[in-house]
Amino acid sequence: MPRPILATIHTEALRHNLARMREAAPDARVWAVVKANAYGHGIERVFDALRGADGFALLDLQEAERVRALGWRGPVLLLEGVFEPRDLELCSRLGLWHTVHCDEQIEMLAAHKTQVPHRVFLKMNSGMNRLGFAPQRFRTAWARLDALPQVEEISLMTHFSDADGARGVGEQVRIFEEASRDLSGERSLSNSAAALRHAGDARVRGDWIRPGIAVYGSAPDFPEHDIAHWQLQPTMTLAARVIGVQQLQPGDTVGYGSSFRAEAPLRVGVVACGYADGYPRHCGTGTPVLVEGVRTRLLGRVSMDMIGVDLTPLPQAGMGSAVTMWGRAGNGAVLPIDEVAAAGGTLGYELMCALAPRVPVVVAD
Ligand SMILES: *Cc1c(COP(=O)(O)O)cnc(C)c1O
Repeated sequence: MPRPILATIHTEALRHNLARMREAAPDARVWAVVKANAYGHGIERVFDALRGADGFALLDLQEAERVRALGWRGPVLLLEGVFEPRDLELCSRLGLWHTVHCDEQIEMLAAHKTQVPHRVFLKMNSGMNRLGFAPQRFRTAWARLDALPQVEEISLMTHFSDADGARGVGEQVRIFEEASRDLSGERSLSNSAAALRHAGDARVRGDWIRPGIAVYGSAPDFPEHDIAHWQLQPTMTLAARVIGVQQLQPGDTVGYGSSFRAEAPLRVGVVACGYADGYPRHCGTGTPVLVEGVRTRLLGRVSMDMIGVDLTPLPQAGMGSAVTMWGRAGNGAVLPIDEVAAAGGTLGYELMCALAPRVPVVVAD
């Protein structure tokens, strides 16, 4: 028998979440962001559910090839553009749209021999200071691209640093607008957080939104809001089973470092899931978990292959009981990935991307 651990990808939830993002910005087109292997879900596993998107956005040229190999003829956008000149050959061959965020990429394009005119997304650094042209250099970059025979269409984009937080997007929107006011081209500004929190502003919606995390059922601004607030559904469940039970007496401890000590008699379920499966090692005693769909808590430290859980609320639970690490339990109960992530000092993003290759994955409705 295989080790009892399984990840499930929920295609109905992916469809639902994508529809929610459309609702958030009904007049915009939607790039479904599928970078990092669709946030750990697997591009091939999510493709069918997300094919209602207007395009797929990603970073990796191999991932772009995979999207084309699935038969997708629509737009594919490379969010970081090309890394070396020969990448442009693939862009021409596969009809990939690509971000242009620096002079070197313009030079590569100017030297590129192609019959296929390219569609580019010119990126402005409006304050995040990651990729993009400074606002005062944006117009020159646009004019250089506009003069290239290799370029068919230029769209304008930027990325927000604080769409999920108190600082918001106002200043970056102002900078972007001011530096691009009379440049023609479609606009794309919003990630999930901006689309959910700030899309009342038509400038923020633009022509294309670029949601990732919300499509995968994680609230971009947790704990201020959770997925129930945004009406999003979990798209990944990580489930395992109890493979051992221990009866503790007062003073007994659980796991490495004896970090949890029982004060009263207590039953511990030992679950076949550990940090080598992608469960965060920084989650400690108290991290929420579902046993047979009932909420309980982790006890002690996460080991490589096992975790202890408190069976106190579940007198009937024991060997073989189903444990939901995150996602949806058999009885419909939901444990948002964001709660587990927060208990481990990280984000839903990191947990879904870190699902380990050794965990078998199935696709369900
Ligand atoms: C990853 C990414 C997104 C999606 O961000 P989410 O927070 O997952 O919605 C959008 N735009 C760019 C440029 C990105 O790199």
